Amino acid sequence: MSTGDASAGKTQRIEGHAAIVGDGMPINRVLPSRLRRLVGPWCFLDHIGPADIAKVGPLRVAPHPHIGLQTVTWLTAGEILHRDSLGSLQMIRAGQLNVMTSGRGISHSEESPAAASGEIHGVQFWTVLPDSARFSEPMFDHYPVLPKISRENLSITVISGEYDGEHSPARHFWPLVGLQISAGLVDTALNLNPAFEHALLVIGGEARIDGEALLPNVMLYLGVGRSGIQLSCDGSCHIILIGGKPFEEDVLMWWNFVGRSHEELTQACIEWNAGRGSFGEVHGYDGGRLGAPMPPWA
Ligand code: MN
Repeated sequence: MSTGDASAGKTQRIEGHAAIVGDGMPINRVLPSRLRRLVGPWCFLDHIGPADIAKVGPLRVAPHPHIGLQTVTWLTAGEILHRDSLGSLQMIRAGQLNVMTSGRGISHSEESPAAASGEIHGVQFWTVLPDSARFSEPMFDHYPVLPKISRENLSITVISGEYDGEHSPARHFWPLVGLQISAGLVDTALNLNPAFEHALLVIGGEARIDGEALLPNVMLYLGVGRSGIQLSCDGSCHIILIGGKPFEEDVLMWWNFVGRSHEELTQACIEWNAGRGSFGEVHGYDGGRLGAPMPPWA
């Protein structure tokens, strides 16, 4: 039985770029990139930290809106307090997941709690909602426990979708997978769904994928048609794997909005800045809200 790799597309290395979110939190933005906009439905990937709150200051992302997407927030260290226009007030801690489904419109804020533990480390993804779900009611879900697969020197948390018979409870609207793979000394084969495209991002340590060294903040895109990879790690590595069925609708992104036309994105900016639309209001955040920058075509 062939591994299927012969038919797989060439790999692509996508370097993230350092950026700041909110009032000064260092992140590394990996998606979207000029080289690649989507991996399955995954359209945005910020690697947050690792950062020492005492040095960089607390995370403070003021109220801002979203349409057309889910935010998927996964922490490996620290805490973030989430507030949204549905009235949700939810602390997320290491090993936990927040999924916010914007539907036709929502707004939220994200901040370090007053009693933050010190370090913050995690990822925030967005997934594109397909037409069938993007005008739905907004929803917020917190998942305190996710399924874990343990093998010798290897632990895999199923953040989204299914892997090796374990299903994440997280709500999703397009076939996908999201994993955190943490390994010690290993040289092991990992199965992949050949109908999906996949990408890997090291968020700590160093790994080799099919013999190719991968350092943090460089995403390795694998394309579709792969039924497996060989993962090697010499000591300690933490890897995010994302994948999914290639997304089939044309997608446009501007600021915090995902849509299908320039007009739709312009309209969202105008409505948010005017305090109209279906974004609601976030209560309890100590500070003002973010303004939408108008797109260059508007
Ligand atoms: Mn947001």
